[in-house]
This record gives sequence, structure tokens and C-alpha cells, in this order.
Amino acid sequence: MNEFELIQSYFSRLGNVNRLPGEEGGVVLGIGDDCAILQPPPHSQLVVSTDTFISGVHFPDQTSPFDIGYKALAVNLSDLAAMGAMPLWFTLCVTLPSADEQWVSSFCDGMESLIIASGIHLVGGDTTKGPLSISIHVTGAVTQGLALRRDGAKVGDDIYVSGEIGHGVAGLDIVLAALGDEAASVGSVELLRSLERFNRPKPRNDVGGKLSGLATSAIDISDGLLVDLRHILQASQVVAELDMGAVPVAPSVSDERLFVGKPSSERRRIACSGGDDYELCFTAPGGRRDSVEAVGSLLAVPLTRVGRIIAKTGTFRVGDVIDKVSQKSLPLAGYNHFS
Ligand code: ADP
Ligand code: MG
Repeated sequence: MNEFELIQSYFSRLGNVNRLPGEEGGVVLGIGDDCAILQPPPHSQLVVSTDTFISGVHFPDQTSPFDIGYKALAVNLSDLAAMGAMPLWFTLCVTLPSADEQWVSSFCDGMESLIIASGIHLVGGDTTKGPLSISIHVTGAVTQGLALRRDGAKVGDDIYVSGEIGHGVAGLDIVLAALGDEAASVGSVELLRSLERFNRPKPRNDVGGKLSGLATSAIDISDGLLVDLRHILQASQVVAELDMGAVPVAPSVSDERLFVGKPSSERRRIACSGGDDYELCFTAPGGRRDSVEAVGSLLAVPLTRVGRIIAKTGTFRVGDVIDKVSQKSLPLAGYNHFS
């Protein structure tokens, strides 16, 4: 297959998912011309983001094409979730070492499952030859002025996380230690759940959408809870007091087959420092606890209060995450490309 046949047979088909007659989703002209033509919803602001996904850097080389297709879109949808935006459109740039039809077909199946689940539309892209890399550009919409930004946290706000923290770092350890097959054969439910979450994270677009107008700031946890929370603190010029004991840690993190040699006392910290969770960390006024709880119940997603925003003082500097128990600043570790 050549470039044009790949586009025709696989990517154009993906562009037709979710496009029932009368439900074009603002796609006036999709894949096939030099550009797509898109109609934004009335009274909305567009929210855009892009993420590149490189083999061996963003996913282990042995990752299945289905999971690569799924996760490349998932991490981009997660950025829209963190802004409280509704997913609208995306473009897809694929660089492939060869035109391996079986690989492309499975890659598209993985991506299609999430296109259906999220309601987003593929409207264009580029297909080239080279070392495997996927680059996605997403566009979403928010009601004017209601995007969830990093710079809105206020002193006195509560800090929350969605779901469980640590599936990403546990899943990576399972892959690196080649424990996946063993976990499957002995039916280790907790390990398999972390592996599943690592390969197919669930972007929290439903939660983000409901938090718009309620949360004062939000971020998605891609590099680790502690470092990502710090981004909110720095943008908002505040300090956090974190109750580490309240963080809902993935059960697999305490499994002794993972993080071999690490004492149980360190594991909670590992979960809070590991990336690839794609949960949301957000702040909301203390007076709106009932509303936050209602969102969690409605969507059946745990939203757990893990701390509060405090002011910078003589001892605590902007961006510090203070441990509630020791009242000491927590050392922040997370993923960083050039360090
Ligand atoms: P051009 O030479 O004008 O860049 P291309 O031949 O690269 O056009 O692409 C033809 C059409 O196919 C365009 O509409 C482009 O957006 C779309 N396209 C190319 N690759 C992909 C892809 N991987 N996913 C989705 N659409 C794609
Ligand atoms: Mg092109």
C-alpha cells in the first residue's frame, strides 16, 4: 500500500465514525481536501492542544498497535478534559516505518473505540514514512469564559483528584518487569487493572465537562500528581497542603511483585510521583463540596478531597506542596523530558 491507499482505506474511514446524517458535529468538509472546514458551536470558545507520541519514549516498543492508537488519542482527550472542554475535532499525523496493513488496521481499531466513546471527529492529518511516531492535534469547545485553567485556585479551596492514583506507574512496572502474562495466568485482578489503565487510560471528559463553572482550576495528571499539582500552584501563586494519606492509591501499588525492594512506606509517594494516570486534579471552593460530590455520584467516578490551598507565608513558597502531617515541603518528582 502507498500513502494514498493507506489514507483511503483506513484514515478516511475513521473520519466517518460518528458522522450520522444530521449529526455532522460541525464538520462542514472532512478528510479529502487540502483543509477541513469546521463550524464551531455558537457562543463557544475553542480550546486546542497537541501531543506527540514516540515509540520508546511515550510507550514501550512492545505496545500493541491497538493500544498505541487508543492511547495517542486518550492523552489528547485528557488535555481537553482538564480544560472542561467538549471534544469536537482532531487531526492525526502518523509516521510509519512501513505500510504494514495489519498494524495500521489494528491501530485504527484502537483509535476508533475511543472516537466512538468520546464523540470526537477525525478531520484530517498527514501520513509519512520514518521512525514510528504519532502526533495528534485536538480541538474542543467550552462555553465562553468557563474553561478550567491552571491559574484560578484560591486560598481556602479544596483540592481533589478523580479516580485512583498510581495505575500508570504500576502499569509501566508490570510491563518493564514482564509481569503481564503471569498476572493473567494467576488472575491477579489488581495488576491486570493497572495494566489495562496504563495501556488504555480513560480520559475524564465527562468529569471535566461537569466541573466547568464549578472547579476553580484543573490539570490532568500526565507527569505525576505532585508535579502536576505544582503547575496549578505556580500558575495560581499559592501553596498546597496535601493529605497524602487521603490520596486514593491504586491497590496494585502495594503488590510486592512491583517496585521490588521499595518499602511500603515509600509506595504512596511513588504513586503520587508517577505519570500516565490521566486522572484530573482540580480545586473547588470549600462551600461547593456538595456540588462536587453530586458530580462524582452522577458520573460514578470517585472525586476525593486530598488537601487544600493555603497562602504563601514566610516559610512556604509559591508552588510548595506541604505534607499535612509533617508540615514539611514534599520533594517533587515526576517525568520531565530533558532532565
Ligand atoms: P496534502 O498533500 O494536501 O497535504 P495529503 O495527501 O497529505 O494532502 O492528504 C490528503 C487528505 O487526507 C487531506 O485531507 C489530509 O488531511 C488527509 N489525511 C492524510 N493523512 C491522514 C491521516 N493520517 N489521518 C487523517 N487524515 C489524513
Ligand atoms: Mg500531506
